[in-house]
Amino acid sequence: MGVLVPHEYGGSGFGYHEYVTAIVEISKIDSSIGLSLAAHNSLCTGHILQFGNEEQKRKYLPKLATAEWIGAWGLTEPNTGSDAGNMKTVAVEDGDHYIINGAKNFITHGNSGDVAVVMTRTGEVGDSHAMTAFVVERGTPGFKKGRKENKLGMRASETTEMIFEDCRVPKENILGEVGEGFIQALKVLDGGRISIAALGQGIAEGALQAAIQYSKERHQFNQPISKFQGISFKLAEMATKVEASRLLIDRSADMKNKGMSINKESAMAKLYSSEIAVEVANDAVQIFGGYGYTKDYPVEKFYRDAKLCTIGEGTSEIQKLVISRAILK
Ligand SMILES: Cc1cc2nc3c(=O)[nH]c(=O)nc-3n(C[C@H](O)[C@H](O)[C@H](O)COP(=O)(O)OP(=O)(O)OC[C@H]3O[C@@H](n4cnc5c(N)ncnc54)[C@H](O)[C@@H]3O)c2cc1C
Repeated sequence: MGVLVPHEYGGSGFGYHEYVTAIVEISKIDSSIGLSLAAHNSLCTGHILQFGNEEQKRKYLPKLATAEWIGAWGLTEPNTGSDAGNMKTVAVEDGDHYIINGAKNFITHGNSGDVAVVMTRTGEVGDSHAMTAFVVERGTPGFKKGRKENKLGMRASETTEMIFEDCRVPKENILGEVGEGFIQALKVLDGGRISIAALGQGIAEGALQAAIQYSKERHQFNQPISKFQGISFKLAEMATKVEASRLLIDRSADMKNKGMSINKESAMAKLYSSEIAVEVANDAVQIFGGYGYTKDYPVEKFYRDAKLCTIGEGTSEIQKLVISRAILK
């Protein structure tokens, strides 16, 4: 749970290639756990690692890196998802504290998280330099649990509201400078997109492996179904998509490790890996036939889980927005 956290803060001290490997391998088996791993590492822990001061890092990172504490990260609100900069949750200065009021929704570990990084408005609507990120600990008065979503997939990864009612948070819990919160969040998401791409990659690899194995075992018309070109060509296309996705992710991971800007590259990896995860999982269910539609085999879960990848941490449409802005500059 502290893959990217340096040893000095109790983490594993790895880079993005190892991080991607961890998420892919776990997501091949259970992508809900892959999602929770991604949200905990990239979002909450990653935000504190990138923008926390020394005191904040020493206080939170060792607990997060060892999973003694689980982290949440709240940007999305009921009326502002893709348009997160329009957020309504406000933080108002009050002596040594800020008072937070509002609600976040669709938050991974929103109820179970021990600590949350929360983006709030501290200035005018429409000003991207008028938002501030706070660390809020569970148990802080006014930081309340909200509704738990009943989801299509990723059902083992908790998704809930987070409610703030006159929640007093000390100024020492501000991450970076007042007004920087939204800009920080966009930078955190650049890295986070690699983890959702890895999530899609793991789902696609898991679905492909299951489909290959099944196609060799299942016999129809006195031969394994893998002998039918309609099936083997489908497997060939699935395998090619999985390889292409891996290359895009590896390039982003490489650039991130080198400290390069990955705004366009991580959006490309996230867009492609998410979309092919849906396609490959769909093809895997088709190869399993009626059995693919049952809960006896893993492919129906891959099929349901994959869809999250095209939505969470920026929809596929928003990735296209990021990519098109970069190439049309
Ligand atoms: C399981 C799960 C876990 C999540 N975890 C977290 C979390 O931990 N923290 C967090 O902050 N958020 C989290 N989210 C929220 C997620 O990031 C948002 O759902 C996502 O950003 C989309 O926002 P929205 O749902 O409001 O959709 P909307 O923004 O309402 O989008 C609806 C549709 O309109 C399209 N659209 C919107 N704007 C444009 C545009 N400019 N051009 C073209 N099309 C557009 C979208 O692509 C989409 O198809 C999670 C969501 C889910 C489902």
